[in-house]
Amino acid sequence: MLALEKLYSGYTAVDAVRGLSLRVPARSIVALLGANGAGKTAVMRAISGLNRIRAGGVTFDGITLQGRHPARITELGVVHVPQGRALFGAMSVLENLELGAYLVRDRAARERSLEQVFAMFPVLKERAWQAAAYLSGGEQQMLAIGRALMTQPRLLLLDEPSLGLAPKVFDGILEKVREIHAAGASVLIAEQSARKVLRTAQHGYVLENGSVALQGSAAELASDPRVAEAYLGST
Ligand code: ATP
Repeated sequence: MLALEKLYSGYTAVDAVRGLSLRVPARSIVALLGANGAGKTAVMRAISGLNRIRAGGVTFDGITLQGRHPARITELGVVHVPQGRALFGAMSVLENLELGAYLVRDRAARERSLEQVFAMFPVLKERAWQAAAYLSGGEQQMLAIGRALMTQPRLLLLDEPSLGLAPKVFDGILEKVREIHAAGASVLIAEQSARKVLRTAQHGYVLENGSVALQGSAAELASDPRVAEAYLGST
């Protein structure tokens, strides 16, 4: 389980995350909702070690994450799929996937992971030699997720996977999220638009100004008029 306790963190001296507590139980999908600028990305970056934590704590299965190098956090099984995907556009699909596994020393394990990623995303196998920049938006998101899966994560941090995708394409991504969850991993998924994500997650948190404004089961949040008003857009 991932636990954030009264977390304060940000990009600068001003905290973008203010006293936030949150749980992602083992084998669960949790939605992190909130408007543009609410602090969703800042939460993800604090968990994965990219932003400094000023106060409070982050633990994963009881192990303290704050203060660790991002690579060590990845090795503990917590893997970040950043907003905007951060692919290496001039490199091939295969090279991007191999980079995802650079921390995995066991070659046979890397090959097994690659086969699993190709089985989940056959299009990545078909395009293995193509430069990542020439993939469609949906394929690029699949590649970003595939790259994260190369280390066999136990918790995937997905930051705004819908960005730039047509609704149908995003549906396909959410289906893969459910598959990843069914295979035993947990997922924390940040999205501005709540409707579809709340159909996929079991639990959700709504952020405002870096703190939790509302939380509850996905069903409770989906039927909460305050959520409907602000966050149930078309997707
Ligand atoms: P979005 O949907 O746009 O990603 P978000 O909910 O993820 O929004 P954050 O990007 O975490 O929100 O932003 C939280 C706060 O931190 C905002 O006030 C934002 O202006 C600020 N912020 C974001 N990126 C930076 C940065 N690189 N340097 C300084 N401040 C930043």
